[in-house]
Amino acid sequence: MAKRVSDSHTNTAAVQATNDDASASKLSCVNKGYMKDDYIHLFVRRPVRRSPIINRGYYSRWAAFRKLLFQFLTCERHGSGNGHLKKQIVSLGAGFDTTFFQLQDEGNAPYLYVELDFKEVTSKKAALIDSCNQLRDKIGSTALISREKGEVISDHYKLLPVDLRDIQKLDDVITQAQLDPSLPTFIIAECVLIYLDPDSTCAIVGWASKTFSTATFFLYEQIHPDDAFGQQMIRNLEIRGCGLLGIHSTPTLLAKEKLFLDQGWQKAVAWDMLRVYSNFIDAQERHRIERLELFDEFEEWNMMQEHYCVAYAINDALGLFQCVGFPTDDQRMVSSSSATSP
Ligand code: SAH
Repeated sequence: MAKRVSDSHTNTAAVQATNDDASASKLSCVNKGYMKDDYIHLFVRRPVRRSPIINRGYYSRWAAFRKLLFQFLTCERHGSGNGHLKKQIVSLGAGFDTTFFQLQDEGNAPYLYVELDFKEVTSKKAALIDSCNQLRDKIGSTALISREKGEVISDHYKLLPVDLRDIQKLDDVITQAQLDPSLPTFIIAECVLIYLDPDSTCAIVGWASKTFSTATFFLYEQIHPDDAFGQQMIRNLEIRGCGLLGIHSTPTLLAKEKLFLDQGWQKAVAWDMLRVYSNFIDAQERHRIERLELFDEFEEWNMMQEHYCVAYAINDALGLFQCVGFPTDDQRMVSSSSATSP
């Protein structure tokens, strides 16, 4: 029988465990050649091989995230060159995500990268960073690492414990992390807010909008709880003790957009992953990964991708983000006609 999701302790521990699942799935993708990540194996105790459909799903989530993040990192003020514009990234419920370490390797790290999660998770991450030279090297030799406090504090990277539902504490984190609310900021919420009660999600989305005047908020999570596939998806997670507490208040793409607009964001766009996969992820990359494994579960793939989405919201006080986002219909027409012209 499904565990009761109202048991908040069970729910918290189970939601934290989804992080281990995500890390194992990312490693499975890396091992099959879907993407490069030289760090994720350091965070996975027991590597597993996922099915082709799960690998492809994680790849599409990763590729969409990376593309939007790169749009953000490369955007610049008109006529100013790309020189000195400092940027920040804040990852809510970062888990064992390794983006910071990858960006360091690629020479793309922003001025400041801040990761937040429950203390149980940040303590484990701090301990892993502390005990591994490959990770320590990336955060610099002057970094302060406390396993007990679950903190890593360096000049350009901060890992801090916080319960995201405590908005007062989020304000304290801004100060502690030395985030500058006026700088362009990319906020990541990948498979996090959907586990929270809807009031907390609204409060976090509203807090982010009020705090950061030039920001892109990236959200990736489930939609469509009401059809047969959606009901099964919810049941599977409830059996593990993870209620998708937020899914009924934002069950559709329109509802995800409304969540942001109602909380003060200037613009919000949500696409399901089927559309993201065919119209946003680079065609060349899609062709590359489609050759990696035998794949014949097309019906299941379509259904699964229709039940996940990327939503992003934008506040653009500095006028930086013309190039951030999914292509508009006009842009798509131009690129498909240029692709077919001789
Ligand atoms: N964003 C990462 C991890 C997703 S797993 C990725 O995409 O790989 C969800 C993470 O959110 C877990 O690490 C969990 O501990 C964290 N989380 C969930 N609710 C939280 C809360 N109220 N406060 C802080 N972190 C939370």
